Amino acid sequence: MGYPHAGKHYPRSLGEFRAWFQTDADCLDYLEWLRWPAGFVCPACGEQGGWRLADARFKCSGCGDRTSVTAGTIFDRTRTPLTVWFTACWLFTTGKDGISALSLKRTLEIGSYQTVWAMLHRLRSVLVRPGRERLAGIVEVDESYIGGTEPGLRGGRAKGKKVLTGIAVELLEPRGYGRCRMAPLADASSASLHAFITGHVEQGATVITDGWQGYRGLEKLGYRHEPRSQRAARARGEDPADLLPAVHRVASLAKRWLLGTHQGSVDDAHLSSYLNEFVFRFNRRHSRSRGMVFYRVLELAVAHDPVRYRDIIAGLRPRAVPPTPPQSCGQPPSLERPPANRPWRTGSG
Ligand SMILES: [Zn+2]
Repeated sequence: MGYPHAGKHYPRSLGEFRAWFQTDADCLDYLEWLRWPAGFVCPACGEQGGWRLADARFKCSGCGDRTSVTAGTIFDRTRTPLTVWFTACWLFTTGKDGISALSLKRTLEIGSYQTVWAMLHRLRSVLVRPGRERLAGIVEVDESYIGGTEPGLRGGRAKGKKVLTGIAVELLEPRGYGRCRMAPLADASSASLHAFITGHVEQGATVITDGWQGYRGLEKLGYRHEPRSQRAARARGEDPADLLPAVHRVASLAKRWLLGTHQGSVDDAHLSSYLNEFVFRFNRRHSRSRGMVFYRVLELAVAHDPVRYRDIIAGLRPRAVPPTPPQSCGQPPSLERPPANRPWRTGSG
């Protein structure tokens, strides 16, 4: 068993979801299986083996440290019941376009908007897996102003209230789009654009851009560069906007999503986290099962460090030069780990 199965490892339907996760203990059990598929591993010393205490915590057989399944994950010290977390995650992952904090607050009948808002931001923060692979093959790259609700800002590179965002989209042969990446940019300088491309596109890829000078020099960075001139397109009587159809399609989907699901209520400081959610959804748009996406998000959540409230408030500001990912290509976590020797709910499912 190297691949999770519907109805066995994740719920197939809302009915199944409700039947599986009736209590916090049910949720804790599931998180334990996701975090330690081959049995308890001590986060303090790495020892494999220990026993479960009466209060549901674990005691390491090596160093004697006591810990809980949620300690050191995004559920660390949460005061929100796990059943509420699970329902939020189910709605977040199974809704085609996700869910806004306001609708989630209404659905969960939780009094505090802040609690729900922070819960959604914690879920968003796990979506970018460390060391995820970069885009490859033929990749369109462009920048676009995204965010804010003010209409009327035309294209071009003038500064506005919106945030300049780098967009990269894989083109598939003979047609269709592959994965995408989006990230706020400090500016449209070649330093920012080169950093965006090296951070999100594999060397050796063919990068298609417009004729902006900020994209010059990509060959020196190990790419095949195919600039397309707007002026030449205009001279040919073509619409320059059609030069990069993939990035323009993705940009307009992202803008529509921000205005639709989130009603445009996304501030600059948090835009990158919404973009991460959009990219996560876009890249899983062909996923047959939404339950599988629920499973993946919880899998990422138990592997992710705690996210402090003050870090969510501060937001992730665009950096002039984003960090370069490790050279080694990561595998999805589930492919790296040994096959689960005790599939979820074999007995009772
Ligand atoms: Zn230990």
